[in-house]
Amino acid sequence: MTSRFRKRLAAITCLMLTVISAHAFADDLELDLPIGCQLGDTCFIQHYPDMDPSKKAKDHTCGFLTYDGHKGTDFRLPTLADMEAGVPVLAAADGVVANLRDGVTDQYFEDYPSAVRPRIKEIGLGNTVILAHENGLKTIYAHLKKNSVTVAKLQKVKRGDILGYVGLSGLTEFPHLHFQVMSGKAVIDPFSGPQKTTPCTHSETPLWSEVAQHELAYQPTGFLVTGFSAKIPKNRRALESGNMQQSLLPPNSQTLIFWSLYYGSQKDDVVTLTIVGPDNKLLKEYSPKRVSKNQISKYFFVGIKKPKTGWPKGDYRGQITIKRSSATIIDEAKISVR
Ligand SMILES: [Zn+2]
Repeated sequence: MTSRFRKRLAAITCLMLTVISAHAFADDLELDLPIGCQLGDTCFIQHYPDMDPSKKAKDHTCGFLTYDGHKGTDFRLPTLADMEAGVPVLAAADGVVANLRDGVTDQYFEDYPSAVRPRIKEIGLGNTVILAHENGLKTIYAHLKKNSVTVAKLQKVKRGDILGYVGLSGLTEFPHLHFQVMSGKAVIDPFSGPQKTTPCTHSETPLWSEVAQHELAYQPTGFLVTGFSAKIPKNRRALESGNMQQSLLPPNSQTLIFWSLYYGSQKDDVVTLTIVGPDNKLLKEYSPKRVSKNQISKYFFVGIKKPKTGWPKGDYRGQITIKRSSATIIDEAKISVR
């Protein structure tokens, strides 16, 4: 069994435009969470709208959980297995379905042949539902799972209604919902809100409802998946598949590997991974070099070889610690030999 706590991570999508602070017309729009998951546990915010008009990118807290020109909020699922299990996308407010697209395959953009990529870039948002709201604003729900859209054009919906399910369609490199608020052609950051006047401070009037605001506390870093396996993970996507984790180590395994994938890696983080065996014996401690730059996501692993006398029976525990000046965060996992 592995334990999975707070988490988050990284990647790409979407289009371009200037993000503006909301206007007076947005006063009446109150948004609930557009996704049915537990933030910090079963989903994470990987990217916010880019609030920096220059070529650089800053989210509304001046953090780096965004990229240049990003217009929405990316709610990321930890693994493809979570996506397959089904995470509903929900209407953030009452509205009417102004437009939709379905039928685009769920596939990592990097897996498309180069001849097809221009077409996928054209339909960058993949399977999408657009809702029009009474006050003139629109909300966009993108990268939905193929054939999961549950609403029809011009259908009226209530806040909380299911519109479809989180997917991997269009220009995307990880399973997520891209959620975007628009007024005409202008993008609105629902976090900074209509009264935003000072850069990098939370507005007192974001568009989110009080309940949603509580759920949406900013988490600069979090663990997506942490676990054990008999084999070394080939790459990030091997971990993101959701199929790597093992709860029992086969006795003939030659190696035991502990790993963790997390989002929001920051320059100068000090990362340590340990494996502790039965009887609390420290079997391995590994500290990679200090992290040299900010990165949307990162993974580490550490392993031990089978002892000549075989694996002692019992529980093996792994722990990853990320230390930085502002905070220390920890995630853990367990595997057993019987
Ligand atoms: Zn996005």
